Amino acid sequence: MNILVLNAGSSSLKYQLINMETEQVVAKGLCERVGASESVHIYEAGSDEREFVLELHDHYAAVKAVLETLTNPDDGVIKNLADITAIGHRVVHGGDFFAESVIITKEVIDRIKECVPLAPLHNPPALSGIRSCLELMPNTQQVAVFDTAFHQTMPPKAYRYPLPTEYYEKHRIRRYGFHGTSHRYVSERAAVMLNKPAEDVKVITCHLGNGCSLTAVKGGHSVDTSMGYTPLDGLMMGTRSGSIDPAILLYLIDYLDMNPREVNHIINKESGLLGVSGLSNDLRDVGNAADAGDERARLALELYAYSARRFLGSYFFALQGADAIVFTAGVGENAQKMREMILEGLEDLGICLDLERNSKRGGERFISTDDSPVKVMVIPTNEELMIAKDVKALIS
Ligand code: ADP
Repeated sequence: MNILVLNAGSSSLKYQLINMETEQVVAKGLCERVGASESVHIYEAGSDEREFVLELHDHYAAVKAVLETLTNPDDGVIKNLADITAIGHRVVHGGDFFAESVIITKEVIDRIKECVPLAPLHNPPALSGIRSCLELMPNTQQVAVFDTAFHQTMPPKAYRYPLPTEYYEKHRIRRYGFHGTSHRYVSERAAVMLNKPAEDVKVITCHLGNGCSLTAVKGGHSVDTSMGYTPLDGLMMGTRSGSIDPAILLYLIDYLDMNPREVNHIINKESGLLGVSGLSNDLRDVGNAADAGDERARLALELYAYSARRFLGSYFFALQGADAIVFTAGVGENAQKMREMILEGLEDLGICLDLERNSKRGGERFISTDDSPVKVMVIPTNEELMIAKDVKALIS
């Protein structure tokens, strides 16, 4: 059984073809600059790595190019489209309509459309990807997997903002949470590594990449998460500010005469690691500059670690303790020094990092001491596999 996983962004299309018997990736790739006159399709199947420069004027053209490459009679990895059993689409926003993945029907498409105002940059390309597949492979089942779905189990005390009730009831302003597929995947893996049923486990998952979020997971369910109405909320990120006093935005508008678009750009694109360091949104660059004595870079690292630590502390209390803390995504999986900064001096709370283990690279692993009451783990995220598993479960 081969499942095609598609992740359509505003000008990109990422994909993986996964063999579900082996759970191995058969082929994967990325179409970039979709919509521009010169697009690039980067393709990888085992040792076969290629780059095609072509014109992909929309997502339909990108999906078509991907399907043609996969089924190419000379060197394609599958013979024909019938070798794709089903398709899974990553959809960022399912609002409060979807608490789990679903087989795509006309009603599902209508609901995803209704969520466009909540994710104006993300849901339209996902819809284009879905429509393209319906046209190109009308007899193949398609499944939508939502970034927000995992967090639908949050209780009202976690998802409601303390605004007048009408803004929730009339305008659906509430905390939705994102990165749900990643948090679900690593929390499930954590239970397996702890050798306990998911129902008995309390874990705090730290997805630290360009975008960052923490989730408190109890018994396999998200009970709180740091991203909110949008993915801007919560932790300091690569270019996003995370939570700041909302009155700052009013000050920028009222006293510095900025318009809302400019303010939006600052808090989404010019803040975070990039804004504080003045150098880069990439933690490696900022880390190197800090090592070379750059004060702003050092401060950016301190703010980043402290922001994660604040949320970690609040979720430790929200869960009344935790069995494990999990690090994942680009920074979480690779940046040993950042993990060390976030967890420094927490031994009295039962969180004992093993510095030697933390300094080693590898796949899924424990990085706490053997006698640490709270286990600390690194678990590489695999959102594509999680999506493919959901597809498999739904279609069978
Ligand atoms: P995205 O949120 O875009 O999916 P990733 O999860 O790929 O991002 O994370 C990207 C970030 O991971 C980069 O900005 C970089 O700071 C960080 N990163 C990747 N590799 C390393 C590394 N070896 N050491 C430190 N940071 C790293």
